[in-house]
Amino acid sequence: MNPIEPLIFEKSSPGRRCFSLPACDVPEKPISELLSPKMLRKQETKLPEVSEIDVVRHFTRISQMNFCVDTNFYPLGSCTMKYNPRINEDAARMEGFTKLHPYQPIEQCQGILKLLYNLEQMLRKISGMSAFTLQPAAGAHGELTGMLIIRAYMEKKGETRHKIIVPDSAHGTNPASAALCGYEVESIQSNTEGLVDIKKLKESFTRDTAALMITNPNTLGLFEKDILEICKIAHDAGGLVYCDGANMNALMGLALPGDMGVDILHLNLHKTFSTPHGGGGPGAGPIGVTEKLKPFLPVPRIEIKNTSTTEGSEKDKTNTYILNINYPDTIGRVRAFYGHVGMMIRAYTYLLSLGKEGVSKVGEYAVLNANYLRHKLEKYYNIPYGSTCMHEFVISAKKQKEKGASALDIAKKLLDYGFHAPTIYFPLIVEEAMMIEPTETESRETLDAFAAAMIQIAADIEQQPDTVRNTPQTTPIGRPDEVKAAREPKLRWEIGSRVG
Ligand SMILES: *Cc1c(COP(=O)(O)O)cnc(C)c1O
Repeated sequence: MNPIEPLIFEKSSPGRRCFSLPACDVPEKPISELLSPKMLRKQETKLPEVSEIDVVRHFTRISQMNFCVDTNFYPLGSCTMKYNPRINEDAARMEGFTKLHPYQPIEQCQGILKLLYNLEQMLRKISGMSAFTLQPAAGAHGELTGMLIIRAYMEKKGETRHKIIVPDSAHGTNPASAALCGYEVESIQSNTEGLVDIKKLKESFTRDTAALMITNPNTLGLFEKDILEICKIAHDAGGLVYCDGANMNALMGLALPGDMGVDILHLNLHKTFSTPHGGGGPGAGPIGVTEKLKPFLPVPRIEIKNTSTTEGSEKDKTNTYILNINYPDTIGRVRAFYGHVGMMIRAYTYLLSLGKEGVSKVGEYAVLNANYLRHKLEKYYNIPYGSTCMHEFVISAKKQKEKGASALDIAKKLLDYGFHAPTIYFPLIVEEAMMIEPTETESRETLDAFAAAMIQIAADIEQQPDTVRNTPQTTPIGRPDEVKAAREPKLRWEIGSRVG
């Protein structure tokens, strides 16, 4: 890794270009004669004058300073950073897809519509929900879409319920999405096992509660074993259950949220279904609903005109796919056109390449890897909840903090070992939390190497905590003031210097 990379502007050399064109064979005219003065710039733009190879090298070098799942282990709890197979990229880059235009007549888009339709059917099978929309652009956007559906459903029934209950072990976006939709959010405290407190839920779920918003497995990586009873409590009070299924890799092939009594579920294609997260996007957060909520889904809905043929059969080729907007109770569109279609092509490719058998192994391996790592670390770190976990687990670095190095210090030290840090200080119910998700795509060797680094760090903290505090040492950027770095980014690199 080369920590010294000047700004692209500093590489500028007057007159240097990325291309050379043959001399003009018609008389040249000044631009001011061709465009109205209104459209002309007052000042010349200051663009770097560089060659193609300058551009390629500059941006390739910068990209290599970033930590990524393609180079190293990335056990970021909650946000599933598993490997994204390259075959997904091959499929998404096929010309038939990349050259499509969303305004193209629908007779010319039958291929992509079929793919989207089939993906919806696959997600239905994986989740046990009745119908899906692929429109939402991210997990949190799926949550908001779900909340809008709950509101529309309640309004249709003539009910004015203004409250959403969110357990304190839910993902942080849950209360935010409910509040954004205008709901009052009531948090309920987890019990001593780190699970939903049934008694508290019963007391809180009154006739003014529209829904419970639950994350299962919750952010402690624990399966809500009373989920059937939890859903019954909500339903008996005339409410609904929204389930955050962003981490469906914990359950995939093992259990169906639809069977658990969930009414609305969102999935994150950019987590479970191996599409890249990008720099905050684009992602995709499809939501699935039960039969009674289907009329409220966003439009357009992708449908088959002649439903007489069986899906997936040879005859399927003759199906005509249509975009149906004729749903009077719909909440409307939540995204331009059909959502992030490129993500859907990748997710579809992923599912086809895994096949039914592969899909059924995802949950097993995700849970196995997490428990393997959990077991390796439990002698060295405090693990406050549960004796086994699902796809992730939360350790507390409280003991280490007392010795002089916090969860943040451990996270920074891990970078020197070549590992990305786990999610830290979340969930809030664990002091000095470190939330670790190894994911199903990692080998035993990688898990062993990570465990060895964590154990070494714990030993170092016993002996000389300042060696852990004073890190990272090997990365291009050390420890900047994070708030200041976000508000006043310092883009220029002083040659030879390291920030922080
Ligand atoms: C990542 C995540 C979300 C939010 O998804 P985004 O795509 O980042 O909006 C919601 N819930 C859980 C449990 C998550 O892990």
